[in-house]
Amino acid sequence: MGTKITFEKDTCHRCIGTGRLAAYSHVHGGVCFKCNGSGSLYTPASRKAKAIVDEVIVQRTKIAVTDVVVGQLIRPRPAQPKARVIAIGEDRENGAAIVDGVRIPMIFRTLTLQYADKVVTYSAELRFPLYRETTSEDVEAAITALGRRKAGFKVTRD
Ligand SMILES: [Zn+2]
Repeated sequence: MGTKITFEKDTCHRCIGTGRLAAYSHVHGGVCFKCNGSGSLYTPASRKAKAIVDEVIVQRTKIAVTDVVVGQLIRPRPAQPKARVIAIGEDRENGAAIVDGVRIPMIFRTLTLQYADKVVTYSAELRFPLYRETTSEDVEAAITALGRRKAGFKVTRD
């Protein structure tokens, strides 16, 4: 199926792996704010490795809004869930941005996105990238970027 990098995690020391703090049950239902309820945290070594991998993946998967096609899987932001583009609408100008003293019209392209559980209309501003699906080649490039680093992660190829 491809190459996968998994990052080492330790049990969250704040909630001892439960993801909840009884003393804070009045705040967001007592979800542990240290681990966001997951019960685990990246280790110092895995956090460094993950930062390198995330940066490589973000740079490689960037795609211009104008290059997006119907049927493609994209993410509006790198860490968000992926969605399939099911329709592309007309471009619309809505306001302007001043960049270095220059007025740049803000043009939005309407994308209809099919998520696992819902359909969303998304206005993508042409100045900003979207992110395509991560491929095995992207993951291999991230592994190369990790260089001689060995701690905090595991690579599986199948
Ligand atoms: Zn926790």
